[in-house]
Amino acid sequence: MARGMGQFEAALGVVGELRAAGYEAYLAGGCVRDLLLGREPKDYDVATSATPEAVLGLFPRTFAVGAHFGVVLVATCDPCGGADAGTCGTADGACAPGAELAEAAYVVTEVATFRSDGAYSDGRHPDAVRYTTSAEEDVRRRDFTINGLLLDPLQGADDLRAAVIDHVGGLADLDAGVVRAIGRAEERFEEDHLRMLRGVRFAARFGFEIEEGTAVAMCRLAGRIGAVSRERVRDELTKMLTEGRARRAFELLEETGLLAEVLPEVARMKGVEQPPQFHPEGDVWTHTLLLLDQLEAGCALTLAWGALLHDVGKPPTFRRGPDRIRFDGHVEVGVAMGAEICRRFRFSNEETRQIVALIENHMRFMDAGRMKASTLKRFFRLPRFEEHLALHRMDCLAGSGNLENWEFVRERYESMPEETVRPRPLITGRELIAAGYVPGAGFKEMLRTVEDAQLEGAIGTAEEALRLVRERFPLM
Ligand code: ATP
Ligand code: MG
Repeated sequence: MARGMGQFEAALGVVGELRAAGYEAYLAGGCVRDLLLGREPKDYDVATSATPEAVLGLFPRTFAVGAHFGVVLVATCDPCGGADAGTCGTADGACAPGAELAEAAYVVTEVATFRSDGAYSDGRHPDAVRYTTSAEEDVRRRDFTINGLLLDPLQGADDLRAAVIDHVGGLADLDAGVVRAIGRAEERFEEDHLRMLRGVRFAARFGFEIEEGTAVAMCRLAGRIGAVSRERVRDELTKMLTEGRARRAFELLEETGLLAEVLPEVARMKGVEQPPQFHPEGDVWTHTLLLLDQLEAGCALTLAWGALLHDVGKPPTFRRGPDRIRFDGHVEVGVAMGAEICRRFRFSNEETRQIVALIENHMRFMDAGRMKASTLKRFFRLPRFEEHLALHRMDCLAGSGNLENWEFVRERYESMPEETVRPRPLITGRELIAAGYVPGAGFKEMLRTVEDAQLEGAIGTAEEALRLVRERFPLM
């Protein structure tokens, strides 16, 4: 869709309108941080002294989705940039009063009233939200100094830094690459425990260090993270896994003790030795980190969680055998553990199925060279087989480094046409009935026998299929 204007221009327009009406207004939070880092912000948030009611009254097209906690969405007409209905100069009068605009024609800016959050008695939400006209109070309730910057966009974008209003020392921390809690770290994490995971995520994403006092507070309060809803924890972990810095994020989770709280099964991987002839890289944790290191930004969450959990069955099955270390049954145990973790984090059934399938099948690649044609083709029928391939590649690179087996499977998979992997059935139950068989449980086995032979290339016609059935399953 063509955009008449950008989100930045829309936010700029909203700030201008608020100022003209006599209010204070700035860009705030993540977008200021990202602009200063030279990264494209995902969205632009405006903070203002105007109350939600005032904002609702000032702009003709608003959505009061979060008005009770101080947030109003302001829609700006995309073709003309007008926040005022009826000013649209486009031929179709896109924002004429009463015109039903397609949602795609809007740019939406989130406008939040300055607020100071009251006490948090549950470790998750403020008990009460109090509006304030003080911008400084508003930034002091935010989580990290790098997220506590305001920007006056009307001062011109030539010198961004000159337009920044910094009440919390965020500029210096951005320059130094430091994630530091605003105010007393322990208090801030006691208020809202999720901030600990957010801090880890920002440090990993930007390659920043966690300031020492902030890190110490995380270590002290890691045990509280259990009070946060599983869904919110899952979403933070998923972001860490799919933003391209998963290894660093999980190292930080481990160092702060948060990992043992949110994923004890993964924390247990540390120190679990592996046979050096197969795993020169070291223990199960090191191996897992080397996989996480390969996850690209924007990768599928199922692949990411599959990579994290593929060896989760190893710690409980570790055994020092007479010849070497063994993990007999680690796949089966891992499948059960993976399913339990997905259930705990409330993944959808489809996501769970795929994550568990990745764990379940990760060792089968080793046998691919010895598989019968029918077995190999059924292997290729796994939903989203590309993710299985990708996981195997990472698994090899995180261990021996030998990609021969992966190349072999990939080559076979890519060169095999769909009709070879899933050929049309040669016969169905109808033909079996016509041949004199009585419908029942036996049909499944008969058809499976036929399909096996077809996938092996041993038969290719309906006549051959029926001959095979009569041979193997003689009529009484
Ligand atoms: P992202 O790029 O991941 O969206 P962000 O900094 O924009 O990062 P958001 O979750 O979109 O993060 O929140 C916007 C801003 O709101 C933050 O920059 C921060 O100032 C504030 N904020 C968000 N969550 C919290 C929280 N749990 N505690 C305190 N302040 C928060
Ligand atoms: Mg954001």
